[in-house]
Amino acid sequence: MKAAFIKEHGNIEKLIVGALNAPKIAANEVLIETKYAALNHIDLFLINGWPGLNLKMPHVLGSDGSGIIKEVGSEVTNFQEGDRVSVNPGTSCGKCHMCLSGKQVFCKDFSIMGEYGWGTFAQYFKVPEVNVLKLPSSFTLDKAAAAPLTFLTAYRMLKTQARMSQGDIVFIHGAGGGVSSAAIQIAKYFSGTVIATTSNQEKMRKAKDIGADFVINYKETPNYDKYVYEKLTNKQGVDIVIDSIGKATFQTSLRLLRLGGRLIIPGSTTGPLAEIDIRHIFWKHLEIKGSSMGNQNEFREVMDLIFKGYLDPIIDKTFDFDDIVKAENYLNEGKQFGKVLVKFP
Ligand SMILES: [Zn+2]
Repeated sequence: MKAAFIKEHGNIEKLIVGALNAPKIAANEVLIETKYAALNHIDLFLINGWPGLNLKMPHVLGSDGSGIIKEVGSEVTNFQEGDRVSVNPGTSCGKCHMCLSGKQVFCKDFSIMGEYGWGTFAQYFKVPEVNVLKLPSSFTLDKAAAAPLTFLTAYRMLKTQARMSQGDIVFIHGAGGGVSSAAIQIAKYFSGTVIATTSNQEKMRKAKDIGADFVINYKETPNYDKYVYEKLTNKQGVDIVIDSIGKATFQTSLRLLRLGGRLIIPGSTTGPLAEIDIRHIFWKHLEIKGSSMGNQNEFREVMDLIFKGYLDPIIDKTFDFDDIVKAENYLNEGKQFGKVLVKFP
């Protein structure tokens, strides 16, 4: 099968399109003929590698994909050849206490497709039946690949970790990313007010189009925390901050929060070490929580909202699969708003 894989770590040029044998499925797995795959920043981290990462090469990347079931394992009961499907990229052992109590993200074997096992950047990929979701007939395969990782991540952040409720003011750093644009829509679905930041006019307009109430250009308004406090929240601060930026914004995020506020951290793109003024935490009774991916139930809930049209995965650009290196470079430049996809012939 045709696949995009690495044989060694390095820059994006280490990603090769070539031929590999198709994966063999276990009794509880299905084999999917890929129609679309979506890019994620984890692709870039994996290509680069990190200390302690020891992948068996060649390694096929790709954490989001949709397609048609080609083969089912002997124990698979809910699917058959020809089903159009989307996939939860989070896999776990399925047997431990955490898995059996619905907390798959706390399983010690939890991983993302394409992280340790082979992913979706191939003509065929395999996945346990429990991760597969049949698509309604009217739902398109491109959106079925664009949605899972980002919407699952954003849904768990707001619903489970931040316990968002109606009327909450949600502040989102960097509106252009896949998780951020999903979070804007989910926060609006939960009847909140959304304040987002971004760096250019075009992204400001797009963030407003998908529901952000206020969008701030952080380059033009570097003291935006003051602006939010005084002008947008009547000197209260916000209920929830979503901060995947890390070092560059951590202090600002603490300042933005009101009494009882929740800071949710799904990443730290500008670096992992930040200074904290601890007084903010106890004076304001703040909660600081991490979040990463989500559980099977959360996946099914958020996909149901997408299938019903309450949430709409935004696709920025679709490349041909053969141009996947171009697509990864495009993602790396950070100019996109929403997801970058590759399409299989
Ligand atoms: Zn488990």
